[in-house]
Amino acid sequence: MTLRLMAIFAHPDDETLGFGGTLAAADTRGFETYVLTATRGQKGWFGPPDDNPGPDELGRIRERELRDATAVLGVRETIVLDYMDGELRDADPDEVVRKIARQVRRLKPDVVVTFGHDGIYGQPDHIAISQFATAAVVAAADAGYDLPVAPHRVSKLYYRVTSAEYLKLYEKAFGDLVMEIDGVERRGEGWPEWAITTVLDTRTEWRRVWDAVRCHMTQLPLYERLAALPDEHHVAMWGTQEFYRVFTLVPPAPRETDLFDGLRVAALA
Ligand SMILES: [Zn+2]
Repeated sequence: MTLRLMAIFAHPDDETLGFGGTLAAADTRGFETYVLTATRGQKGWFGPPDDNPGPDELGRIRERELRDATAVLGVRETIVLDYMDGELRDADPDEVVRKIARQVRRLKPDVVVTFGHDGIYGQPDHIAISQFATAAVVAAADAGYDLPVAPHRVSKLYYRVTSAEYLKLYEKAFGDLVMEIDGVERRGEGWPEWAITTVLDTRTEWRRVWDAVRCHMTQLPLYERLAALPDEHHVAMWGTQEFYRVFTLVPPAPRETDLFDGLRVAALA
C-alpha cells in the first residue's frame, strides 16, 4: 500500500507556509497526502477594514484558497472542520478530538504532522491543534475509544518546529512573529538545533510551494514583503522543513532527513 501522510492544522495557509515543502515532496515521491484544517481562518483579514467581507464570507473565500493551494501541493483530500478562527482553544476537546480521530481512522495515515506545543510563536490555535491532533492519534489507535470506524495506529507523529535560524528567515519575510495573549507577549524563540530530530531538504519544491502561497489571495498584504525577496530567500524558506519526532513505532534514525524513514516503501517500486 502507498504510504500516507496526514497534516493537521488550524488555519488555511498553515499547510503551505508551514508544511508546503513537506507536502509537495511527499507527493513528488508518490506518497498520498491529506490535510485537515480546523478553522476557515474567518478572522484573517489584512486588507482595508471597510473591505472585510465578514467572518462567514471570508471563511468561504479562504476555504477556496486552501483547496486551491492543496491542489497545487498535490494533496489527495482536504478536510475542513467548522471551528472559529482564534477560538480553537475554547472548543470542546472531546468533540474536536473525536472529529479528528474519526478522520485519522478513515484515512489511515502512516505519518501525522502537526504544530509543536509552542505553536511556532505561541499562536493559541496552533497550540490547541497540536494538543487535539496528538490526542486524536492516541484515540484513533485505541480499540476502546468508541467510534464507528475501525481503530488505526499511526506509525510516526511529528511536530513542525523551527530553529532560531529559520525563524530569522521567516521574520524577514513576514515581520516579527509576536502577539499578546492573556496580557503576556509571545514570540517565536526557535528550537535548539540538538532538539530538532528531523530536517527535510525540499529545495526542489520551492516553486510549487510559492505557487501555493499565492493561492492565498486574501493574505497577500502579508506577503508583499515576501514577493520582493530574492529567489535564494524563497529557496531557503520553502526548502527546509524542521520537525521534532514525537514518537515512532519503527526504529528511529538519529538525525532523520525523511519523515517516512523506517516505513515500508515497497509500494513505490
Ligand atoms: Zn496558522
